[in-house]
Amino acid sequence: MTEDCIFCKIIKGDIPAKIAYRDDFTVAFYDINPQAPHHLIIIPHKHIETLNDLHEDDSELIGHMTQTAIKLAKQLNIAEEGYRLVINCNADAGQSVFHIHAHLLGGRRLQWPPG
Ligand code: 5GP
Ligand code: ZN
Repeated sequence: MTEDCIFCKIIKGDIPAKIAYRDDFTVAFYDINPQAPHHLIIIPHKHIETLNDLHEDDSELIGHMTQTAIKLAKQLNIAEEGYRLVINCNADAGQSVFHIHAHLLGGRRLQWPPG
């Protein structure tokens, strides 16, 4: 937990969010400013600022986040149509919250390359 981190506060329940899934390692909630019909944010409980700060022993955690995303995509019925799982890292990628998170986006045809 880091005092001034929005996502740590969501995990703790200090900031309300529409939680879609929670287990001992991850929390998934609906993005406040959705960019697709389905837009969820998947975060680890552990406060890690960016992808660059991941340690080798966090690999299992990232695997768990990915498995959570797949489970949610299936529950949302977007697994077959298709979806995108995105982790933005630092300024050029547009990262705005510095607690590592994966965006799960689906429910419409997504553009490539991204803007
Ligand atoms: P980033 O730009 O860092 O990759 O993504 C941060 C995401 O978190 C954005 O899509 C933004 O809409 C979302 N977000 C920021 N603050 C909150 C919040 O307080 N609640 C929820 N549910 N989403 C948030
Ligand atoms: Zn945090």
